[in-house]
Amino acid sequence: MTADSSVTEPIAAAETTTIAADIAIVGAGLAGSLAAAVLARAGQRVALVDKRAVPPDEFRVEKIGGHQLEMFRRLGFIDALAAAGCQYDRVPNVREGKVVDVSVGRAYGLPYADLVAMARSQLPDPSSLIVDEVAAITASDDVQHLVLASGRRIDARLVVLATGMAGALGYKLGIRRRVLAGRHSVSFGFTIARRDGAPFDFEALTCYGERTSDGVDYLSLFPVRGGMRANLFMFRDPTDPVMRDLRRDTEATLLRLLPGLQSFLGDFRVTDRVQNWVMDLSVVEGHLQPGLVLIGDAFQTNCPAAGTGVARLLVDVERLCTEYAPRWLATAGMGAEKISQFYADADKIAADQQSLKMARFRQALTSRNDIGWDVRRRLHFLRRSITHRVDQMRPGWLAQVRSALRA
Ligand SMILES: Cc1cc2nc3c(=O)[nH]c(=O)nc-3n(C[C@H](O)[C@H](O)[C@H](O)COP(=O)(O)OP(=O)(O)OC[C@H]3O[C@@H](n4cnc5c(N)ncnc54)[C@H](O)[C@@H]3O)c2cc1C
Repeated sequence: MTADSSVTEPIAAAETTTIAADIAIVGAGLAGSLAAAVLARAGQRVALVDKRAVPPDEFRVEKIGGHQLEMFRRLGFIDALAAAGCQYDRVPNVREGKVVDVSVGRAYGLPYADLVAMARSQLPDPSSLIVDEVAAITASDDVQHLVLASGRRIDARLVVLATGMAGALGYKLGIRRRVLAGRHSVSFGFTIARRDGAPFDFEALTCYGERTSDGVDYLSLFPVRGGMRANLFMFRDPTDPVMRDLRRDTEATLLRLLPGLQSFLGDFRVTDRVQNWVMDLSVVEGHLQPGLVLIGDAFQTNCPAAGTGVARLLVDVERLCTEYAPRWLATAGMGAEKISQFYADADKIAADQQSLKMARFRQALTSRNDIGWDVRRRLHFLRRSITHRVDQMRPGWLAQVRSALRA
């Protein structure tokens, strides 16, 4: 059965009556907004709801590059991303004051609020975003009913929960978060500039931690429109006094943790608010329900240092919106057997598992100090450094080896 559109009004005009849609998406963060754009471009009637009209200035992913760009391209968002972001192509990776290697490849830096605004702008009709809070959902294997805080209602055949780490709505539906690693990592975000007003000598830079006891994985510096952005990723007790030092005396604490950074940064200062975030690694349970599917952080959280959150949510968006949702809507019913196909998707499972694997790897590489990981850490940086040096002596050698291995 489909929701009866004869008793409804068009999505944008509806104020008090019931809105009818094929798909209701709760949460217009990156996952929900991209999903809505893909589905709406394919002709589905989508009701996208978020409690905030303007994406807030919250610290989340701030750079997009590598494999993520190919996924943005496949989904049709690469031009919009390129227009919104600040492009950079070369990132020297340094440790203990020396260059380990150089990452070469297109990347874009931008505040998360701009990234979400870009995603929302990709809706065929951006004004169709419904600014409201979804207060309750009644899900079934037929039509789903959503009640909004304003009293408005939405009827849809499928509900996509893209509510990020906010758990209240899921909790009401019996969905629980299983914490796999509490307080797994700590991240800091801030903007820096040289005190003399001159530009930095690099486009972007990554500086790795020097001592396991510091728990610093790496500091990533990259351009955004407002200046040089810094993302510091750590695996360390969030109650350690160094966290307070990083918030209050950021410049000096950064150089204390990463002494090799001084020669690259010169005399610098922090130009805006220092934001920080303590991340639990968690995955949902009780999510397999008729009429309802979870994507992005609503399904599983990610370690910011591993940088896998966006790749995971793009796989969710691509698999759900180009494969499963159109197929489910083509036949009657929205039972749990349909929904389970998405959660059993091989690409989705691989992306979710890779995210957890990378989270554990980064933590161990940063802070494990047993002999096994000590050797592994040395070999990790030595291999990168040797490969880089050989590639400098014989340019193109590395690319040839990689393409031979792929063939
Ligand atoms: C500090 C930090 C750094 C990170 N760095 C990286 C990185 O470098 N690389 C990377 O790949 N990933 C990174 N990530 C992960 C990445 O940012 C997330 O995976 C991604 O932002 C998740 O997007 P989302 O759309 O699932 O959730 P969100 O962006 O949180 O969106 C959820 C939306 O739902 C809305 N909402 C919630 N409840 C309701 C309701 N009841 N009614 C209406 N609306 C509702 C909220 O208002 C919000 O807009 C980082 C994360 C953090 C915290």
